[in-house]
Amino acid sequence: MPAERPYDQPVARVLIAEDDEGIRDPLVRALEREGYDVDAVGDGLEAARIATEDQHDLLVLDIGLPGLDGLEVCRRVREERPDVAVLFLTAQSGELDAVAGLDAGGDDYVTKPFRLAELLARVRAQLRRVAPTEARAADVRLDLGARRAWQAGRELELTPKEFDLLALLVAHAGEVVRREDIMSQVWDANWFGSTKTLDMHMSWLRRKLGDDAAAPRRIATVRGVGFRFEP
Ligand code: CA
Repeated sequence: MPAERPYDQPVARVLIAEDDEGIRDPLVRALEREGYDVDAVGDGLEAARIATEDQHDLLVLDIGLPGLDGLEVCRRVREERPDVAVLFLTAQSGELDAVAGLDAGGDDYVTKPFRLAELLARVRAQLRRVAPTEARAADVRLDLGARRAWQAGRELELTPKEFDLLALLVAHAGEVVRREDIMSQVWDANWFGSTKTLDMHMSWLRRKLGDDAAAPRRIATVRGVGFRFEP
């Protein structure tokens, strides 16, 4: 069962191409336990086809694949999707040289046999690298790395909580974000206090967005449920 991550970033999608089931199956299970959306294939041609048509964030490519080797899979997919992250699984030093020779900045490799923990750490690092750095909806734009926000080109002076609130709402613009999810994401997963805090911060945030608390048009209150950023 993938872990539930309601309003983090959208769940990252990973494609594994590995013909050795003894490696592939445990890997699929481990990545699913981490909460990723995982597809797996055992053939290079199929890997290239799926990865070109679909929108995976990360490809985990064995180099010695039937059909098409992992390096060639990477080259073909990159022609269509230059930004996809790639993590190679290599078996011998000859393969390592080939990976090093790839013109693919930022890609990484893990040598077999590898420890699962090591591979998961590399997967996380690759996914961080390709994580969205910006969120926008309507006239609001956020730089998630620099933690700065603008409305119609004017920079907003936000507290850390207000920034997190706005980032969460904008990432899900047009959808209701439930109060309890906001509490666990912006405050703490084990929040026991009153959600009055949330209403207070929300009213400050609305004011900074020039929204009228009595008749908000930017952040709507959905009674008994939560809030919705109107795109
Ligand atoms: Ca292989």
